[in-house]
Amino acid sequence: MYNPTPTGGISGRVAGGKRIKLALDTAKEDPLALRDGAARGKTAIREALGRWLETTLPRFFAWLAVTVWRWGGDWRGLRPFLTRTSAHVAVIAVACVALALSSVRWPALAARPLPSVPEIFAQQTTPETSEDALAEVLANNGQPPQPDSWGPVTRRVDPHTIIPDRPRLDVITYTVQLGDTVQAIAARFGVDPTTVLWANPAVEDAPDLLRIGQEIIILPIDGVYHTVAEGDTLESIAEKYKVDVEEIASCEYNHLEPPDFAIEPGMKLIVPGGEKPWVPRVVTSYTGPIPEGARGTGLFQWPVLGYITQGYWYGHRAIDLGVPVGTAVRAADGGFVSFAGWTDIGYGYLVVIDHANGFATYYAHLSNFYVTAGQAVERGQVIAATGNTGWSTGPHLHFEIRYNGVQQNPRAYLP
Ligand SMILES: [Zn+2]
Repeated sequence: MYNPTPTGGISGRVAGGKRIKLALDTAKEDPLALRDGAARGKTAIREALGRWLETTLPRFFAWLAVTVWRWGGDWRGLRPFLTRTSAHVAVIAVACVALALSSVRWPALAARPLPSVPEIFAQQTTPETSEDALAEVLANNGQPPQPDSWGPVTRRVDPHTIIPDRPRLDVITYTVQLGDTVQAIAARFGVDPTTVLWANPAVEDAPDLLRIGQEIIILPIDGVYHTVAEGDTLESIAEKYKVDVEEIASCEYNHLEPPDFAIEPGMKLIVPGGEKPWVPRVVTSYTGPIPEGARGTGLFQWPVLGYITQGYWYGHRAIDLGVPVGTAVRAADGGFVSFAGWTDIGYGYLVVIDHANGFATYYAHLSNFYVTAGQAVERGQVIAATGNTGWSTGPHLHFEIRYNGVQQNPRAYLP
């Protein structure tokens, strides 16, 4: 149906409407026909709309152009404005037509229900691994994570600086903060506690003695930080820390230049994966005769009763038992005293009991001791009083069990 007048659209629409009405009338008797009729009605509307768009829109644009041109002739000053306006109208119209003709389906805005309170709590992230859990505890300054009562609203207080996960490109210096331990710092920087120990001789000597404000070196990767000494070669360093020469030479942080990978005294090298041998602190022990009958049972008892303030780990091969100064220390097993006195290697006042069966026990940071070297002691006998001497940050008993000179985890031997 071609309609030469601009009202063609309207007549087309009317015709469509009539047809729908007709269809509805015939469908009254038969529900099947009703459905058929409705479908036909829809088709009619679509057809009419299509015809209207085909015929009227081009006419409208032609009319618009002519009008603009005519107005331009009459009011020259308005022409730029009108031209711009018609251009805008044309662009919008074309966009509308494109939308109408393309079978664009608008996405239905599905009504999404707001999460219920239990769901909100369930959404709160719970750490998946024990390492994550540890990191979370550390991030909370040593406190276990508190559930957020208003999870979606409040932010968890984290007084620490956020350390990004991306690899660090160089050695950095970290300033010790309140509550830091070697293990906590290592966890925050994603390195092994031994890496922190080995890069910082002061920390290695006394891992319990971190001072607030102390600056410690953190390597970007696990390994040993070695200062090149006179006569050192890559080979000798590699052998010392049990790695391949290749590991040191190719480590990007060392900036060694091929082909000779020259090193000079004073240079600091990262030895990736390197290990420092553990050197236990040794005290000059009693070498006299073993007293008659001074032999341990092999069954240990607690030297004091207190909370374990630091457990056994690589950098601390002992347990620390927090007790007030002056608490009686009992021999963990029978034996003889092989050392009783002051040490300059961090133990402060120390008593060592040799159990004459391969085992020896160390009682450190004492305020007083009541035994002398060579004296036989019985299991449970009071031998000393706890204190805070030597490299100690608070009153506690530092207790070691050594077997043939090698420090053991005391928890494995205590009831
Ligand atoms: Zn200790």
